[in-house]
Amino acid sequence: MILRLSQLFLRTLREDPVDAEVASHKLLVRAGYIRRAAPGIYTWLPLGLSVLRKVEEIIREEMAAIGAQEVHFPALLPREPYEATNRWTEYGEGLFRLQDRKGADYLLAPTHEEMFTLLVKDLYSSYKDLPLSLYQIQNKYRDEARPRAGLLRGREFIMKDSYSFDVDDAGLDASYAAHRAAYLRIFDRLGLEVIPVTATAGAMGGSKSEEFLHPTEVGEDTFVRSAGGYAANVEAVTTVVPADIDFSNAPAARVLDTPDTPTIDTLVAASNELAPRSDSDGGAWTAADTLKNVVLAVTLPTKERQIVVIGVPGDRAVDLKRVEANIGAFLPIAGEIGLEAANEEDLKKIPQLVKGYIGPGLSLDEPVLGLEGSSKLLFLVDPRIVSGTSWVTGANQDGKHVFGLVAGRDFAWDGVIECTEVRAGDEAPDGSGPLETARGIEMGHIFQLGRKYAEALDLKVLDQNGKQVVVTMGSYGVGVTRAVAALAESNNDERGLVWPRSVAPADVHVVAVGRGEEIFAAAEKLSAELNAAGLDVIYDDRPKVSPGVKFGDAELVGVPTILAVGRGLAEGVVEIKDRRTGDAENVAVEKAVDYVVNAVRQK
Ligand code: ATP
Ligand code: MG
Repeated sequence: MILRLSQLFLRTLREDPVDAEVASHKLLVRAGYIRRAAPGIYTWLPLGLSVLRKVEEIIREEMAAIGAQEVHFPALLPREPYEATNRWTEYGEGLFRLQDRKGADYLLAPTHEEMFTLLVKDLYSSYKDLPLSLYQIQNKYRDEARPRAGLLRGREFIMKDSYSFDVDDAGLDASYAAHRAAYLRIFDRLGLEVIPVTATAGAMGGSKSEEFLHPTEVGEDTFVRSAGGYAANVEAVTTVVPADIDFSNAPAARVLDTPDTPTIDTLVAASNELAPRSDSDGGAWTAADTLKNVVLAVTLPTKERQIVVIGVPGDRAVDLKRVEANIGAFLPIAGEIGLEAANEEDLKKIPQLVKGYIGPGLSLDEPVLGLEGSSKLLFLVDPRIVSGTSWVTGANQDGKHVFGLVAGRDFAWDGVIECTEVRAGDEAPDGSGPLETARGIEMGHIFQLGRKYAEALDLKVLDQNGKQVVVTMGSYGVGVTRAVAALAESNNDERGLVWPRSVAPADVHVVAVGRGEEIFAAAEKLSAELNAAGLDVIYDDRPKVSPGVKFGDAELVGVPTILAVGRGLAEGVVEIKDRRTGDAENVAVEKAVDYVVNAVRQK
């Protein structure tokens, strides 16, 4: 194919779009790949579509290689299947809901587990039909709270979503492993570095799950890794839990007057003054000796507000994203929740808790928090609060704290939750060394869903013994439009985009520089020959455009090889430039096609 710039529907821009913050967004708009249609919703122009199709093709090939078959669902779907799995509610405000003329509820699908499950139920009924993997490459709709960074977080975006169906757990393991390997090949072929990290399953339910994160500063996901090879999304990091401590000889707890100590810092200072501790007894008090009880308000998918108290060592901050990822197990209903610090009004309803001096109560006989204590609030603690640990914490009286309050002896809790910030230097849970933190973009996500969806929608098959068994499923997503953005984000310089060969909108960008007829004739002939050799060619044949503008556009558009036909033609040479390295070489006209073909083959 030859795209002629005199004809191509393209206007490059000199200025960054005002709403763009990240490089990929700025450059994809400036270089004429996409246009904004509405917040988080984009139109694809010819160059953009070319890149998008190449990304899709690589994905299709790798899906075919593991035996997955392509189907295509509507994006506009009825409410009922999503009602059956409760996701009509669970998705909360993230779902685009609409009605038809008769008033029936519809949605624009954010993901398609329900429909795939029903399709297989519709057509298959025996273990002999399984294993089965189906996929589609299709638009998804999510009313994201913060659409941002152009294609990176859109409200309409393209996802490749696949689903596996197996009769037993071993089958699911195999399907999951096949997808995992295919994903690594896809990202490798795209030229996109990814790190598979352990993830939480979140609203999807199910057990095992991994995300493929592309490391970059503009990413919204924080992940941690150790030198020893551990890698996990921050939400999924588990704390190294200390051993229980024998408390049979621990002194009794005592309440002390600690006026004006509503914060951890003031409390630590006052503790060292009022109740100094000898070195043999643990040394000076630090924030790590205090138990901080943070009152949070959860907005359930039903819009009800539920108060939860979280107890953490005073030297650690509560990480709301970690709380959100892990609190589901303790709530009465699954789904998207809101999470924030409790406000004055919330606190007024629980006078047992005295602001600045909140604690779980002085003894197990009269608990304030935990095990249906007088506050009747859910009380969850950080995993470091194990039986026998001793704490300085609020006494639920203004200006008073209790010292030596022993976990398991003096207070109890309703559950343990991963909820505090993960810090650089914390130990990896698998003992592979200290953690370092980094940022990344989630490019793909694979889940072992298990039987949740099959059960909700009654997908069963006859097994070998003629018994009905519930099918077990996996679900696997790749952000296709997000991949285009991530590739642009990680492949650019001050002059524009620098595509990897695998997805570049063309193999070579031919520029006719100057005015001479012979220059255009030679450029035309070379473009035709390159095209005949099987390459995709962009040919800048615009007659009255200056060399500076043509080169500027070529570098902005970012095709890996730029071939300039200009003054050198008189000596029988053209200039061939590698957009990535900037290296340029004069090559004899008759050798130019072979030279470019070789460069393309070498990648
Ligand atoms: P995120 O945490 O970034 O919101 P997610 O966990 O909600 O993503 P999944 O439901 O796992 O996303 O969707 C599978 C893939 O679809 C993601 O790994 C990501 O690459 C892509 N994706 C999800 N949401 C968006 C979006 N708003 N815009 C573009 N791509 C997206
Ligand atoms: Mg995800």
